[in-house]
Amino acid sequence: MSYVDEVIARVIEKNPGEPEFHQAVKEVLESLRVVVEANEEKFRKDALLERLVEPERQFKFRVPWVDDKGQVQVNTGYRVQFNSAIGPYKGGLRLHPSVNIGIIKFLGFEQIFKNSLTGLPIGGGKGGSDFDPKGKSDREVMAFCQSFITELYRYIGADTDVPAGDIGTGAREIGYMYGQYKRLTGLYEGVLTGKGLSFGGSLARTEATGYGLLYLTQELLKLNGKDINGMTAAVSGSGNVATYAIQKAQQLGVKVVTCSDSNGWVYDPDGIDVAALKEIKEVKRARLTEYKNYRPNSEYHEGRGVWSVKVDLALPCATQNELHLEDAQQLVANGVTAVCEGANMPTTLEATEYLQKNGVIFAPGKAANAGGVATSALEMSQNSERLSWSFDEVDAKLKDIMVNITHNMADAAERYGMAGNYVAGANIAGFEKVVNAMNAQGIV
Ligand code: NDP
Repeated sequence: MSYVDEVIARVIEKNPGEPEFHQAVKEVLESLRVVVEANEEKFRKDALLERLVEPERQFKFRVPWVDDKGQVQVNTGYRVQFNSAIGPYKGGLRLHPSVNIGIIKFLGFEQIFKNSLTGLPIGGGKGGSDFDPKGKSDREVMAFCQSFITELYRYIGADTDVPAGDIGTGAREIGYMYGQYKRLTGLYEGVLTGKGLSFGGSLARTEATGYGLLYLTQELLKLNGKDINGMTAAVSGSGNVATYAIQKAQQLGVKVVTCSDSNGWVYDPDGIDVAALKEIKEVKRARLTEYKNYRPNSEYHEGRGVWSVKVDLALPCATQNELHLEDAQQLVANGVTAVCEGANMPTTLEATEYLQKNGVIFAPGKAANAGGVATSALEMSQNSERLSWSFDEVDAKLKDIMVNITHNMADAAERYGMAGNYVAGANIAGFEKVVNAMNAQGIV
């Protein structure tokens, strides 16, 4: 059996009940096969892949808090510090009832390569909890965040591990966590990113993942001789990534006709109204059923369906495994040009293969959504030098980073004879830098 197959089999055996982690490892290692097989004996002797798929350490802890009725609630908290070869651990905190150790490991593993791709000195980590902020009062969210950090604070720090937002963790949650960290440690340091602007946050961080997705999509289309201006797009999700992806898409001349949440989806033939979306989701914290009150011409449908609409671009920006094989078939039948992932691993392996085989330009999340973590690293830099850069300065750096990522992944794919396979290109480009650093640092 080849080394890659051996390691995949061992990961499945050693980490039972973690299908998302298996899926992420398979996707990455399959596309690294050419690189590994060119030097298989050395990789095997150094157990390079075993070290790559085993987190450096992981924490699992109890998070007790009291709800508004006086009832004690108990959640589970996680932080996986996956790989620090190229910098301090960096990756978000996900607050969602579906969170378990397998989900956090899949996200942490992906984060290693994504962070490497940004060209910035950040290692890979991820964390979160099965707490659901939806429907909770501000006081309940604060009680949870304070309890969560009361345990986590021992393991994080501006130069060791710097968490950020993710699903369910926005500016409100980061604010409460930061306050508790400061209270416990007495340190005013850049330990979390995605902070409010009045206490060390970076301009353009809120917009960064969505904007970055569109900068990469625009450049990738250009590389393939196509102009984004005038295209139509379907977006899924209506959270942070989706909202700013829609906004930037519109600025680039794209008409976005859908968005969704976990209950249903909206079709707006005139183009999604971003101001209405922000008011519903960010101010009222309400459901998308409200959208019709702002845009009578739009349609609301229960369940899934954004990928059934005929568009040029599909931008999945909600969650993992939300674009299935049937959706890919439907998109291809409708003549889609490109699928670029705003979320982490939103496309199943079968759907990805189908899209690639049918000539669709496919950009994986670890490249396409890297603008978020890249701008988080820019926030770390600003915190370290105790300065704040202007919106335009951060946005220009973000754009440069996304353009570089686009070329790096395209070039890496080409170097290994897989031109146009951006999944392989992103994995290889991210892997090369991490492996160089791991080799140079010895067996640690
Ligand atoms: P948000 O919590 O702001 O929004 C998530 C959106 O996805 C919401 O519309 C939510 O709907 C929907 N959603 C969540 N879970 C599900 C589900 N199981 N089924 C259907 N819809 C769901 O999160 P973000 O926008 O920050 O994150 C979205 C994706 O992007 C995630 O994969 C995240 O890991 C990734 N990402 C985020 C980055 C960031 O900077 N925020 C950076 C890089 C990647 P509802 O409101 O009903 O829950």
